[in-house]
Amino acid sequence: MAAAQVQRMSRLMAKTLRDDPADAETLSHKLLVRAGYVRRNAAGIWTWLPLGKKVLDNISTVVREEMDAIGAQEVLLPALLPKEAYEASGRWDEYGDLLFRLKDRKGGEYLLGPTHEEIFTQTVKDQCTSYKDLPVMLYQIQTKYRDEARPRSGVLRGREFQMKDSYSFDTTDEGLAESYALHRAAYQKIFARLGLDYRIVSAVSGAMGGSASEEFLAPAAAGEDTFVDCPACDYAANTEAVTFVAAAVDGSAHGPVEEIDTPDTPTIETLAAHLGVPASATLKNLLVKVDGEIVAVGVPGDREVDLGKLGEHLAPAVVELVTAEDFADRPDLVRGYVGPQGLEKVRYIADPRVAPGTAWVTGANKPDTHARNVVCGRDFEVDDHLDVVVVEEGDPCPSCGAGLKLDRAIEIGHIFQLGRKYADTFQLDVLGKEGKPVRVTMGSYGIGVSRAVAALAEQTADDKGLCWPAEIAPADVHVVAAGKAAQTEAALDAAEQLRAAGLRVLVDDRAGVSPGVKFTDAELIGVPQILVAGRRVAEGVFELKDRRSGEREELPLAEAIARLTA
Ligand code: ATP
Ligand code: MG
Repeated sequence: MAAAQVQRMSRLMAKTLRDDPADAETLSHKLLVRAGYVRRNAAGIWTWLPLGKKVLDNISTVVREEMDAIGAQEVLLPALLPKEAYEASGRWDEYGDLLFRLKDRKGGEYLLGPTHEEIFTQTVKDQCTSYKDLPVMLYQIQTKYRDEARPRSGVLRGREFQMKDSYSFDTTDEGLAESYALHRAAYQKIFARLGLDYRIVSAVSGAMGGSASEEFLAPAAAGEDTFVDCPACDYAANTEAVTFVAAAVDGSAHGPVEEIDTPDTPTIETLAAHLGVPASATLKNLLVKVDGEIVAVGVPGDREVDLGKLGEHLAPAVVELVTAEDFADRPDLVRGYVGPQGLEKVRYIADPRVAPGTAWVTGANKPDTHARNVVCGRDFEVDDHLDVVVVEEGDPCPSCGAGLKLDRAIEIGHIFQLGRKYADTFQLDVLGKEGKPVRVTMGSYGIGVSRAVAALAEQTADDKGLCWPAEIAPADVHVVAAGKAAQTEAALDAAEQLRAAGLRVLVDDRAGVSPGVKFTDAELIGVPQILVAGRRVAEGVFELKDRRSGEREELPLAEAIARLTA
């Protein structure tokens, strides 16, 4: 492949800015705009300027190489899609406001694809008819559209963005597990090559449906996901996926249940203060409706119920909060004073911390009255133990018991074992070995390619600006001509030699720009190596500076080239 041309700053369309854009909240947003990588057109809609396009392409190249390496085949599907396929899967409605919908001149309804499970399923149904055609893995690097509610963080969350999405098609569950494992390993290689710090966490599969699902999270302050990270072992998880396991304790020493008069204690805080016990000794019982039926959920008084987690446990049942009308014909449910003892007609779900043998202060099912010494397994039974509380910093690691940390991260990739959901919708069968049709099972796998640009910027930038890992940077070396004509000439000559040696070169040959501005711009732009044609070019000596460490060294050009190509 012919080496790229030397890119001259004097001709590069990249206007650097000294000040942060007023609307920018995240570091990557500020720096990518200031360094001239991207330009905002509208909320969540971005133009990739020449430097940005290079970084985006470099990431795509890494993704493409690793997808090809596992045998996935690249295709390109349309972004403009007919409504029917998404109606068939139910996602035309499920996606709600997230979908960009439009009509053609004849009134036909379309959408701009947010992800492509439906269309890939149809494609494979059309192209693959026999088990011999499978397994097959297909991918594309394509523009996706989602009308995000808060497209605020630059290219981190666009309404139009680049995604690598791939899909696997197998005839057996073992085959799907293998395709999933291949993707998982490819993602590990991709993110390592990109130089991203990441964790793999098991995810809750949410609206996608299906079983196994993991997210690749890049820890960063600008991240919109909170995850739990164990400082002592390699456990990391989505906050909703953390499950606490509690052991039964010996509750035989507790005295009998005792009712206590507790006027004016409508909240856990007032109750705990009135009785002089910690909130964690009280049992709070939240009433919810599960598919219309009232269910009580018991958690320690100092913990919050995570309705998302509860919903995930009970899906596909629908969980709703109760309203006053729900109590109208339920004298057994005394609002604010519910206790699990004697609640015969209500299903009781409890957090694992409400373990057999533990004793609690809880409602007595009478107004203004609580009960103490209410022992799990003696005074009440739990129908289902489900971890439904919001995870908190310091909760024990399910793997090693150390106190967990809560950190922020950017979701950069997501892999799913979808199973047969979409194959069922579109009756995707192939003819099996025995001559009978076999239903196909699928996986779907995404990487946020444009988001990865921002995630990398977030993780690698410093107080001077962007600071790209070598493989992703828009150039290998940024040659700076300090100012005088002879220095510009030497810089251009050096640039040409570096290019001939196979390097990607950016050269700051701008006339009438002070050396100080050029150095500041070079640091802002973030190419890993900076070569300065300065004071001593007449002797053939340049200064080589490492962008990250700031280390500088004077050396002859030939040596600099040898160093940079090593
Ligand atoms: P998020 O929770 O951040 O909205 P998601 O779970 O909806 O993301 P997926 O449907 O799993 O996203 O899409 C696959 C990948 O595409 C994500 O892991 C993420 O890297 C990227 N992605 C999703 N939404 C956006 C967006 N609005 N802008 C940029 N990249 C995105
Ligand atoms: Mg996701």
